[in-house]
Amino acid sequence: MSAPDTSSFGFSPAQRQRLAEMSVWPLPEAGPFSAQAERDREFESLHRDLAGENLRRLDELRSTTRRPAVRRIESRMVDALVDAGFVEVVTPLLIGRGSLEKLGLGPDHPLWRQIFWVDRTRCLRPMLAANLYHLLSHLQRLWPLPVRIFEVGPCFRKESKGSEHLTEFTMLNLVELGPDGDARERLVDLAGLAMDAAGVGYELVPKESEVYGATIDVEAGGVEVASGVAGPHPLDANWEIGDAWAGWGFGLERLAMVAEGSPQIRRFGRSLMYMDGARLNVQPDKSATSREA
Ligand code: ATP
Ligand code: MG
Repeated sequence: MSAPDTSSFGFSPAQRQRLAEMSVWPLPEAGPFSAQAERDREFESLHRDLAGENLRRLDELRSTTRRPAVRRIESRMVDALVDAGFVEVVTPLLIGRGSLEKLGLGPDHPLWRQIFWVDRTRCLRPMLAANLYHLLSHLQRLWPLPVRIFEVGPCFRKESKGSEHLTEFTMLNLVELGPDGDARERLVDLAGLAMDAAGVGYELVPKESEVYGATIDVEAGGVEVASGVAGPHPLDANWEIGDAWAGWGFGLERLAMVAEGSPQIRRFGRSLMYMDGARLNVQPDKSATSREA
């Protein structure tokens, strides 16, 4: 067991960690305290408040919302896309090495070391783009332009970065092939459509992508929640696609995190420790556990 932290009367590392786990929002500044007993009293009081907040969120989930924020945001975005003429597609989570190579992803690419391989030739998809490209290569000869499709589903990346990255996350990827007007203008419009449905304020920021080169990001509260590209793009030739297109990949847990005002994505991801942002290892208020009439 490590010795108690007596070097200063800020919260101890263990206390700070517990408070961070319990707090949906950024923690308020606390301390320095003049004595350890004062610090511990403050910790207990803050912990009690945070436990109450987690219990309140769990109660709201049970009695009112019934679905976590990430899934409610997803539903609203899906409805808006379907209303706008987009068709939902469902493609495999396991993809072949060849699909990645067609996206320009090989052993020298920075994303390569983030990939989970299940055997020599197949991996858990790190993005949806390869599958959507494949479908578009067929649909462009089966349906009239514009072809509008989207998929929502899990993606997997080995991540070493902190509070905004999950190993498994949910991407909503939409693409419109052969838009009526300018593809870049359409890209901007589609960001508006999706973000209005998500109910999250945003700004568009030009960025460099490791796969596509020049892209645009949607940022909300300073956090990247989506990356978008307007084609034609040199990669298109790998799927024999020649028309212009506009596509966005949204991270749904990032959207939920921003919508809920939290600095931590992990509580909005797939979890056995959190439900809809609420920590599960809290003690119920004994006086409130009787069955509802
Ligand atoms: P970042 O630069 O934040 O690592 P990225 O640019 O590599 O993200 P993209 O490939 O653009 O990510 O993926 C599209 C969207 O998917 C991102 O804008 C983000 O919202 C979400 N996303 C990507 N990686 C993760 C992750 N590890 N955890 C949660 N969401 C993610
Ligand atoms: Mg990006």
